[in-house]
Amino acid sequence: MNVIFLGPPGSGKGTQAKHIQDHYGLKQLSTGDMLREQVAKQTDLGLQAKRIMDEGGLVPDQMIIAMIRSKLEQAENQKGVILDGFPRTLGQAEALDSMLQELGKALHAVIELQVDDELIVRRLSERYSCASCGEGYNRTSRNPVKSGVCDRCGSTEFSVRDDDKPETIRKRLSAYHAQTAPLLPFYKQKGILSPLNGMGTIEEVCKGIDSILKVK
Ligand code: AMP
Repeated sequence: MNVIFLGPPGSGKGTQAKHIQDHYGLKQLSTGDMLREQVAKQTDLGLQAKRIMDEGGLVPDQMIIAMIRSKLEQAENQKGVILDGFPRTLGQAEALDSMLQELGKALHAVIELQVDDELIVRRLSERYSCASCGEGYNRTSRNPVKSGVCDRCGSTEFSVRDDDKPETIRKRLSAYHAQTAPLLPFYKQKGILSPLNGMGTIEEVCKGIDSILKVK
C-alpha cells in the first residue's frame, strides 16, 4: 500500500507517519528529512537547499524528484511507502504518477491532515527536538519526562529547527496554500483523497488514519 500524508507544515505528517509505518510495515519517505540530511552532510544539494528552506520556500521540483526517485526505487521490495512532505506541487504529483507507473505500483490513499493556520503557528513555534536522536518535543504539550533529558536517548542537548522561526513559519504556510493546496482537487478527482481533522490528540488522529487505511 502506498500512501501520501498531505497537510501544512506542522499538521503532524511526520509524527503520524512514524506511528503508522510500524503498524502497517510501510516505509516513511520524508523529503524534509532527506534534505536535512543533505544539509548536515554539506553536500552541494544540501547547501543549495538550505538557503531556500531557511527562507520558507520550496526546493525546485527537479531536485526533489531526482532525490525521491532513488528512494522509491530502493523501496521497491517493501510492502509500501508513506510519502511525508512529497508531493508539494502539481509538477511533483505528476512526476510521482509517472514514477509509480514505471515501477508498476499504485497510489492507494491521500490523507489530508486538516489543521487551522493559527494552531500551526503555535505548534511550530513550540516544537523542539533532541539534538542527538531527533526525538520531537513540544514546550506546552510534550516535554521530556525528566526535565532536560531526552526520553529516548538520554542526551541533554536540544535544538530548534532553523525554519521554525515565526516569520519563516508564515512563509511556509503561504507556500502550502499557494503551491500544495492545489493537490487537493487533483487527488479528489482521482477518488483517493481522505480529509481528516488533524487537530485532535496524536492518538485520536492516529485512530482516524487507521480507520481510513483499514479499508484500503
Ligand atoms: P518539512 O520537514 O517537510 O516541513 O520540509 C522542510 C522544508 O524542506 C520545506 O519547507 C521545504 O523548503 C523543503 N521541502 C521538503 N519537501 C519538499 C518538497 N517535496 N518540495 C519542495 N521543497 C521541499
